[in-house]
Amino acid sequence: MVSGASKERIVNTICNNCAQACGLEIHVAGDRVTRVNPIEGHVVQNTSGCPKAAPEALMEMIHSDKRLRKLLRRVNGELREITWEDALDFIAEKLHQLKEKNGARALTYQTGNAFLATESEKVARGFCDLYGTPNFSSVGSLCFYTRRFAHTVTLNHGAPIYAFPNW
Ligand code: SF4
Repeated sequence: MVSGASKERIVNTICNNCAQACGLEIHVAGDRVTRVNPIEGHVVQNTSGCPKAAPEALMEMIHSDKRLRKLLRRVNGELREITWEDALDFIAEKLHQLKEKNGARALTYQTGNAFLATESEKVARGFCDLYGTPNFSSVGSLCFYTRRFAHTVTLNHGAPIYAFPNW
């Protein structure tokens, strides 16, 4: 949707900051996000006023000058830009050395909540399997995992990930 004078577009999408996937209406002018609202009547709504979808937080996440936009490696105390090839070679070598010296279980993979219940999680778990470590963990989120845990121990199956308004 484009509103004539300001050329502002409205893009309906979902928040990807956790597995809930709340509906968001994003206002965009040029390449800048100008406003964020919940989508009225969307099946998954951020009814609790989740701070991770506050307009200021989302806009900072997208437009902050401090956002990491290139690959950096610290060399002699200084951060230097490196290529993907260099980064992958460096990490592969470190992983190889770790396994040789301490065994595969010395590696723990810790991920944030945004990567749970997504394809990225499956890739990360697959990597851990191939490497040989069972140590895969996540921060989870208190609102999600406590609900899921309570659902499991009382009803004997994991709760759906979505919190519909009329539950
Ligand atoms: S609960 Fe919050 S972080 Fe999760 S999808 Fe909804 S708005 Fe985003």
